[in-house]
Amino acid sequence: MKKSDCIFCQLTNIPIVLENELAVAFWDIHPVRKGHLLVVLKDHKQNYFELDQSEILAMDDLVRRGKQLIDSKYSPTGYNIGINVGEDAGQTVMHCHFHLIPRYPGDVKIP
Ligand code: 5GP
Ligand code: ZN
Repeated sequence: MKKSDCIFCQLTNIPIVLENELAVAFWDIHPVRKGHLLVVLKDHKQNYFELDQSEILAMDDLVRRGKQLIDSKYSPTGYNIGINVGEDAGQTVMHCHFHLIPRYPGDVKIP
C-alpha cells in the first residue's frame, strides 16, 4: 500500500497523546476496551518485521509510556499488547502499529 492511500499517513488533526522521535500514540477510534491506545510508527512501514532496531526501541518506549498513561487514567488490571501482521491476521491499516489494550476484572473475551 502506498503512503498516499494510508489512513494513518493522512491523519493530520488527530490528538497525539504521546510522541518521540520515531513514533506517536493516539486513542483508537473504535476502542475494544476503555483506554485502547495505538502506538504508531511515524514512517510508513507496513509491518513490524520491516522495523529497524531504533524504531523497535521507539515503539517500545511509547508502549511503556502508554501503559503508564492508561494506568493513571483507568487503572486496568491487565493488558493485551499486540500487532496484527497481514490481512489474514486481521491487519486493516497497513501501517505498523501496536495495540495496547487495557483489561479489567472479569473481562475475559475480546469480541
Ligand atoms: P488493525 O486492524 O490494522 O490491526 O488496527 C487498525 C486500528 O486502527 C483499528 O483498531 C481501528 O479502530 C483503528 N483506526 C482505523 N482508522 C482510524 C482513525 O481514523 N483514527 C483512529 N484513531 N483509529 C483508527
Ligand atoms: Zn502510512
